[in-house]
Amino acid sequence: MTKFDIVCGDITEIRVTALVNAANEGLRGGSGVDGAIHQAAGPELLRECEQLGGCPTGQARMTSGYRLFADYVIHTVGPVWRGGGEGEAALLGSCYANVLSLAAKSGIRALAFPAISTGVYGFPKDRATRIAIGMCRLLAAPDSPFDSLVFCLYDEESASLYKDCLAEVL
Ligand code: ADP
Repeated sequence: MTKFDIVCGDITEIRVTALVNAANEGLRGGSGVDGAIHQAAGPELLRECEQLGGCPTGQARMTSGYRLFADYVIHTVGPVWRGGGEGEAALLGSCYANVLSLAAKSGIRALAFPAISTGVYGFPKDRATRIAIGMCRLLAAPDSPFDSLVFCLYDEESASLYKDCLAEVL
């Protein structure tokens, strides 16, 4: 059985095997959670990212975690919100699906996710929450390889959206 947890705070402090990063297509590091992960991991992370040749929106790439507690970082690129008519919901769903697929292939059983696309990329938080929880619940079905999926929110309002949404689907 996969355990789902919701925590409010800085994702870099979470003790899991892999942290998920809300990256940009260039994998060059950036602001928000991306900046916090690069800062905590150290400059080696950027050097490894530079070797990967970018990552298209909706896909995922894995690196080492360097100075983080986490052994790995799985970088995924969420869609920029452009009003909802440009496939944003499907792209956000594929971020979660591709992260979980890469984690499963790599034998990773414990991951922490930030709220992908809900910062500077502007995805409405309530819709993003339903996609995040819906996709993870679907893919972490009873026979899934994951022990623990942590949703790490940076503010109380987002954390309570996640708590309400998780309570609805459990
Ligand atoms: P995006 O470009 O995908 O929107 P952002 O980093 O701007 O990515 O924001 C994604 C979410 O991550 C936002 O809800 C933001 O509040 C949150 N966030 C920012 N810093 C951190 C952090 N250190 N730990 C966890 N979440 C964070």
